[in-house]
Amino acid sequence: MMGSPVDWNEECDVLVIGSGGGALVGALAAAKGGLNTIVVEATDRFGGTTAYSGGGMWLPCNAALKRIGDDDTLDDAREYYRAVVGDRTLREVQDAFLDNGARMLDFLEQDPHLEFVVYPWPDYYGKAAKARAGGRHICPANLAVDTLGDLRNVLRPVLPVERIGAPLPEELEAGQALIGRLLLALRDQPRAELRLETPFEDYVVEDGAVTGVVVRKQGQPWRIRARRGVLAAAGGFERNAEMRSRFGVPGEISGCVGAPGNFGRAIAAGMEIGADVDLMGEAWWSPGILHPDGRATFSLGFTGGIFVDANGERFANESAAYDRLGREIIKAEEDGRLTRPFWMVYDSSAGIEPPVIFPTVPLVEREAYVAAGYRKQADSIEGLAAEIGVPADRLAATVARWNGFCDAGKDADFDRGGEAYDRFFMGEGGGSPLVPIKAGPFHAAAFSISDLGTKGGLRTDGKARVLRGDGTPIRGLYAAGNSMAAASGQTYPGGGNPIGSCAVFSWLAASDMIAALPQD
Ligand SMILES: Cc1cc2nc3c(=O)[nH]c(=O)nc-3n(C[C@H](O)[C@H](O)[C@H](O)COP(=O)(O)OP(=O)(O)OC[C@H]3O[C@@H](n4cnc5c(N)ncnc54)[C@H](O)[C@@H]3O)c2cc1C
Repeated sequence: MMGSPVDWNEECDVLVIGSGGGALVGALAAAKGGLNTIVVEATDRFGGTTAYSGGGMWLPCNAALKRIGDDDTLDDAREYYRAVVGDRTLREVQDAFLDNGARMLDFLEQDPHLEFVVYPWPDYYGKAAKARAGGRHICPANLAVDTLGDLRNVLRPVLPVERIGAPLPEELEAGQALIGRLLLALRDQPRAELRLETPFEDYVVEDGAVTGVVVRKQGQPWRIRARRGVLAAAGGFERNAEMRSRFGVPGEISGCVGAPGNFGRAIAAGMEIGADVDLMGEAWWSPGILHPDGRATFSLGFTGGIFVDANGERFANESAAYDRLGREIIKAEEDGRLTRPFWMVYDSSAGIEPPVIFPTVPLVEREAYVAAGYRKQADSIEGLAAEIGVPADRLAATVARWNGFCDAGKDADFDRGGEAYDRFFMGEGGGSPLVPIKAGPFHAAAFSISDLGTKGGLRTDGKARVLRGDGTPIRGLYAAGNSMAAASGQTYPGGGNPIGSCAVFSWLAASDMIAALPQD
């Protein structure tokens, strides 16, 4: 905090911290609104976790959905969201997200580089009121790599490229297409400037308002004045072991698939100037298949197998949406029922590999998993139990009970298959995920908990303005994405919630800054 006049090195209207999808939406909106905008990214690539992602956005009643005749209503979407999220977060914040998603997308689609298509993806709480089996989810249209030109070199590649050296794809899909398209749109904006390797360090506060930031420029402190405000859209703190421990975030960095620069400085610096935070123990969760390097990766689309705890018993609906399943894993661990790694038990009917459609990072050769102790095999269930260290009689009883459910067509314990999402990966028309475990030899694959990034952060109002503990906004400071305490609280209502809300609150922040008077 500054007591004497600040010796600024540079000035702009809007300073955006981070370069994930939301940050770039906010920057685009600010620049198109006539504001000189600087984006500072800590790493040597733009895109953050958003570049790894599916690029999906959950935005009810948006134009892309309407183009294909979607008959959803905002009232229905609100009823669903409320039923799932409850009162854990401010209604004002929930409504801001719901009411502005379609408007934000209208803004994006005015740009020739930004095109979105519907990707039907069921809501994650299929039994909640007004859940939609077809979802409320859109994705960016694919993009030919050549269209990006030199920008390809500054776009963070997908996780398989970073983790196991997979070849770069020839067509940009999903999060790659989203960041690629936003970079193209920003390149056309004379008022927008994007900088790599420029980590944000501190907010500058004058008379109780954030008037700029200190970043590192070529290793030296550099003070940038932001006349309209600063948008913190720098992801979560999933890669910061000290913050994870301080705020009690379950799991480890080895199970995190968030981007490498996400150390939470934009959140911690906010706390230092009096900002309130919320949901700090929360993340977007998932089961994570363990790889030979000891890292667990976000995994979804289980077309068979059952998860068992330390007693050899099932503890959840294995086909539930990944965040719900992740929460069951954490709960079972807290209850003392589950130790990690825990195991997926499956048979040979679909082959030797675990029945997982999207392990995020592709599986490498089986021998490496066997050598790491992450794959087990036996001719009998009792033999497999000995391999994975669970009681043989209990595992045999669990498998027999499961096979009975499969024969009856109903999972009487966890209702696996009871929601549209449970059946989504089971082929055209959604078959049953009740797949018996009968054909030996029998297998087990090791799993742990994975997170896609933390979701606790700076508490905001419905305009994305960061709040103090007393509920008053800190003038000049806004937050979005995983730097912001998530509107969805302790839930993940549907695919595309993280990026959808990140984009909406960044756009709202930019809109507020466009409407605001400069801080002189
Ligand atoms: C495989 C995968 C698939 C997913 N699919 C989807 C999906 O389809 N839809 C969806 O909604 N969500 C999805 N998610 C989750 C989603 O990608 C993230 O929650 C979301 O992208 C986070 O956005 P963000 O802008 O908050 O952070 P990020 O996208 O991680 O961006 C943060 C950026 O800020 C930078 N930064 C951090 N600290 C500083 C600093 N001090 N100074 C400057 N820069 C800094 C980081 O380097 C990073 O580039 C997926 C995640 C994964 C891993």
